[in-house]
Amino acid sequence: MRNRLKIMCVGVALIMMIVRVEALDNPASQSGSSTAAQEKRRSLSQFTKGDGTKACYDRRKQPHTAVTDLHFHSQPFGGPSIPYKEQMDYFDRSDVRFVLLYGIGQQLPYDSSCTYYLDCIGTPAKPGMKNDFENAANYVEYPQDNTHVALSMSFPDLSDPEGIAERIHLLDDEYPSLFQWVGELNLHKEALRGNGHVPASIEDIGRWKDFMLILEERGIPLALHADLGHDDNPTEHLHLMQEVLRRYPDNKIVWMHMGLSRELVDMDPVQHIDLMSRHLDENPKLFLDISWTVLAEAYFDTREKRSLYVEFFNAFPSRILAGTDFVAAGNKTFEVYWNEANITGEILADLDDNAFRAIALGQNYFDLAPGLAEKFEAPQICRE
Ligand SMILES: [Zn+2]
Repeated sequence: MRNRLKIMCVGVALIMMIVRVEALDNPASQSGSSTAAQEKRRSLSQFTKGDGTKACYDRRKQPHTAVTDLHFHSQPFGGPSIPYKEQMDYFDRSDVRFVLLYGIGQQLPYDSSCTYYLDCIGTPAKPGMKNDFENAANYVEYPQDNTHVALSMSFPDLSDPEGIAERIHLLDDEYPSLFQWVGELNLHKEALRGNGHVPASIEDIGRWKDFMLILEERGIPLALHADLGHDDNPTEHLHLMQEVLRRYPDNKIVWMHMGLSRELVDMDPVQHIDLMSRHLDENPKLFLDISWTVLAEAYFDTREKRSLYVEFFNAFPSRILAGTDFVAAGNKTFEVYWNEANITGEILADLDDNAFRAIALGQNYFDLAPGLAEKFEAPQICRE
C-alpha cells in the first residue's frame, strides 16, 4: 500500500513537472490558472495611466521581449494574409500589448500568383491604398480588449508624391483620426529594385512639402525604410536620408532598421554606431527602429558587437523603437511570430532599467504617437 502511494506521488510530481516545463515553453499555456504563470504575464492595464499606484515591472519574472510591436506588416506582399483575428491572438499569446499595423509598401498585383516579391523579379511591387482600407475595416470590425492597436498609412509612393495629401484626406473622410502614423515607406530599398521600385530622388524629396506639413501639424511620425548602402559601399545612399532630415527638421522621422539590410551585413559596428549617434545628436526628431531578425543575426550576434549596441541604446534610450518586422503571409504560423519576437527582443534583456522601460516597455512609443501619452505609461521597474 505504502509503495503504491509512493508511486502515485512520484507520478503526480512528474506530471506537475511536465506541466511546468510546458508553461515556460509555450506562452499560450501561461493563461492557465497557475499564479506563477499569471505573475509573469503582462496586461494592458499595467500600462494604463491612472491615479492608483501600479505594480512595478519585475524584470526577473516578467518577459524581456518588447511589449510593443511597432513594425508589423498585417498585409503580405501577395496572396492571402493571416486572418486578422488570428493576428490579434498572436499578440495576446506573446504578451505584446501595443501594436502598430502597417500595410506593405511593396504589394504585388492582386492577380499575381506570387507571395514573395523576390521570387518574382520583374513583377511590379508597388504601394497602394488597398492595405490601409483593409486594416481600417478589420480594426473597426474586431475591437480588442487586451491589445492596443494603432494604424499606419502605408500607401504613399515617395518617388511619386503627387496626390499624397489628397489621399490622406480621403482616409480622413472614411476613417477620421484613425491613422496616427505613416509607413513603412521605401525611400530606397535595394532589395526591391528588381520589382519596379524607384527610389525617391533628391528632387522628389523636395516635392513632399504638402503631405509633410500635414504630418508635422498632426505630430504623425513618418517611418522610412532607407538603406544606408550595401557591403561594397556601406553609405552609398546616406545622402537621401540626410536630405529628408535637412528639408524636414520639424517632422518626426523613424529610420527603419537603423539603415541596415540583408545587402549590408558586414558594416563595422563602431562605424555604424558612430554614424547613427551623430545623426541622432544633430536631429532631435529622428528615431531608430531596431526591428528585423536580420539585425539580430548580423549585428547583435557576438558578445562584443552586442555589447556595443547595448551601450549605444543605453546612451540614447528615448530614441529607439522595438518591433519584429513580421510579414503576416497566410502560410505562417504563431510559432514563426513567436520566434521572430524572441530573436528581435533578445537584446532588450541586456539594457539598463532606464533604456528597458523606454524601449521594451513602450514609453518611447507613448511619447511619440499622437495622443498616447495621455492614456498610457510604462510601469516603473521594480528595485531589487
Ligand atoms: Zn518592414
